[in-house]
Order: sequence, then C-alpha cells, then structure tokens
Amino acid sequence: MKTKPTGPIPGGYEVMDGELAIGGRTASDLVKSAGRTPLFVYSRAHLDRRCEELRAALPERIGINYAVKANPHADVISHMAPLVDGFDIASSGELAMLERAGIDAARVSFAGPGKRDDELEAAIAAGVTLNCESEGEAQRSLAIGQRIGKAPRMAIRVNPDFELKGSGMKMGGGAKPFGVDADRVPDLARTLIAQGAEWRGLHIFTGSQALSADAIIEAQGNVLNLAAKLSVEIGASLPKLNMGGGFGIPYFPNDVALDLTAVGKALHAYVANCPAELSDTELCLELGRYLVGEAGVYLCRVIDKKVSHGTTYLVTDGGLHHQLAASGNFGTVVRRNYPVAIASRYAAEADEVVNVVGCLCTPLDRLADAALLPKADVGDLVAVFCAGAYGASASPAAFLGHGPAAELLV
Ligand SMILES: *Cc1c(COP(=O)(O)O)cnc(C)c1O
Repeated sequence: MKTKPTGPIPGGYEVMDGELAIGGRTASDLVKSAGRTPLFVYSRAHLDRRCEELRAALPERIGINYAVKANPHADVISHMAPLVDGFDIASSGELAMLERAGIDAARVSFAGPGKRDDELEAAIAAGVTLNCESEGEAQRSLAIGQRIGKAPRMAIRVNPDFELKGSGMKMGGGAKPFGVDADRVPDLARTLIAQGAEWRGLHIFTGSQALSADAIIEAQGNVLNLAAKLSVEIGASLPKLNMGGGFGIPYFPNDVALDLTAVGKALHAYVANCPAELSDTELCLELGRYLVGEAGVYLCRVIDKKVSHGTTYLVTDGGLHHQLAASGNFGTVVRRNYPVAIASRYAAEADEVVNVVGCLCTPLDRLADAALLPKADVGDLVAVFCAGAYGASASPAAFLGHGPAAELLV
C-alpha cells in the first residue's frame, strides 16, 4: 500500500524503555498519572527552551506577548507568566483565566472583533489595554469608561494595506473584520485622545503560521514604517506598538522550521535604525503557536484494529473532537498528515501502513492517512505531535458526547 509521509516530529522528545518520553516520563506512565486517555501532555522544558531561544535571538527592546487563545490551560498560563512580558486575550473569558492565575491586568491587551459591552466593562475596570477594532467599539468603550468613572486604556488595531506573505491565515490587507482601515486610524486616535482615553498606541497583526523568515522580516519592516507614518498623522507618539507575530511551526512533510536567527538579526537592524517617531515606543511581538505548539503531544489509545478492503485501520479513543487541526478540518485546504507516532513502541521499526482514525462516527475523523508506523495493536498509545496550540480548546469537544481530553503539564 502506498504510504503518505507524516510531518516532522519536533525536537526534544526522547525514547525511554522503548516508549516516547515527555519531560523524562514514558507515555504510559503519563497516562497512568492522568488516569485516562485521550490526554494532552505539555512539556515545561519545551516551553522554557522556546522562550530562551527567542530571548537570545531578539533585541532586548522587543518584548514577547503570549496569545492566550493558542493554549489557555491554567497550568500553561501560570508557567508562561514569568517567561513572557505580556498576554494577548480575545475574550473576557480569557481575561478571567488570567485573573485566576494572578496576572496583572497592566500586562494584558484585548483584541478581537465583537467585544460585548460586558466584556469591555470588565476589561476597562481591570485596566486591560483594549486593542480597538472599530469606531463603534471606540464609542462604546468611551461611554462605558465614563459610566464607571475610569479612563479606558486604548490602542487601535490597524488593518494594514499589506499582509504577511505565505501565512496560513491572512488577517490583514483588504476588507477584513479585524482592525480599523489604516487611513481612518489617525482620526480615530485623535478622537480617543481628545475624549480622555489613556492612549496606548497601535496593534498591527498581519498574519499567522508563516515559516518564511523573509516574509516575516518584510512584514515587520512594513509594520514599523506604517506605525511611524501613522504616529506623525496622529500627532502624538505611540506609547506602545504591538508588531504582531505570525511565527509558524512545521506541521507537515517538507515544512521547514522558521529561521529564527535570520528574523532576530533583521529585528536587531530594525531596532538600530528605528524611525525617529518610534524612538520612545515600547515594542512587542505577540506569539501563540510558536511558543506552545511544539510543547504539546496528544496521546490516545488504540481501541480496535480492523481491515477494510485491504486497508488497515487503527481506531483510537481520540479524534477530531480534541485535535481538529490534525484531522485537517481547521483551516486547511488539502489534508496532510501531522507528525504521528506509536508512543508505546516509539523505538520500534516502522513496518506497517495504517490509517489512524478517531472514534467519531464521521469520515472526517482522521488522525493519519496511510502512515508507515511500527506495528501496533489494541492497547497501544498513539501520539500526535504539535498539539500544544489550537488543540484542546480549539476542537469541538462536545461533538458526539465523548467529552474533553485530560491535560497534563509536566
Ligand atoms: C491568533 C492570534 C495570534 C496568535 O497566532 P499564532 O499563529 O498562534 O501565533 C496573535 N495575535 C492575534 C491578534 C491573533 O488573533
């Protein structure tokens, strides 16, 4: 049977007693601790190492924000708190998660279209920076600030006229529900300042999941130039500029990891030659999957092994209700295989071609097609890598009533 390649397994995972080991513990030991499969395991060592690599590559002047929507698990948030400078949230639910973790609202900014009045009020009352998405939202924020007697801290999210080339999800350029079109930003900024908002600057997010350093470098140059130009037109300096992020991770065969060194070098040069208008501006990147994606592994158990018309299926107790992205149903056009392995036979030779599927009664529930893996049987554990971002919280856990997976930070 023809095989389909699987994506590259991220670095930092080891073999122990013939099994996949995460954080120095075997997959079966981790499952025993959690008490069940399916299970997401997140590795502290991976989170630490990624942040260290970023700090080493980036100029000191550029801060790192964590985009909480990538992985809002309470233990992950707490672990990230001392590693990053700020947090980007996209709902008052995420704000509540940060508050439970004891994170100072002064470190938090809130972007996202369709912020409800109650969400704006919670954020303004707490002192979170609002990345304002429209003129209408600006007026509602100012009115709520007046009503509760607190000046809202406000930045404007800009919809730029350029985009991050080659990004998996385009979020800037042309008509978008995100941000305020760049040519209307100066007027809105002046209105906010005149009406007593605490002016916090700009947020320019141009895209996501880019693996090309050149594309990211080009977008960041454009972001800095646009911010400088807008600052002049506004007639006020920018206290802060959130430059976006878009750093991608390799998920699929032939994906090549982002050249962080090249991006860091370019950012050093940009900072050294920073437009004069931005000389006092605090700069930050906002990263989600790049910080947490490779730190997560989804473990599920083989429940059945069967053959249909010559094709062997490993039927697991996991599936798209926990790992929608790996099934190919979260923003992908052509389904390709994520990195997968038989966790309980990690050291064994790959000698069987199988389709790994989930337990949901839909043909969409595929975890790997025609993958060449070690021969596995009922009871074995399957690992799907790159599960640290947009996994547990971005999948339809209620679909078919199997319920959520367990989650463990080790
Ligand atoms: C989703 C999102 C991010 C994080 O994207 P990643 O691809 O996970 O890095 C950052 N900023 C904004 C505004 C977002 O919407």
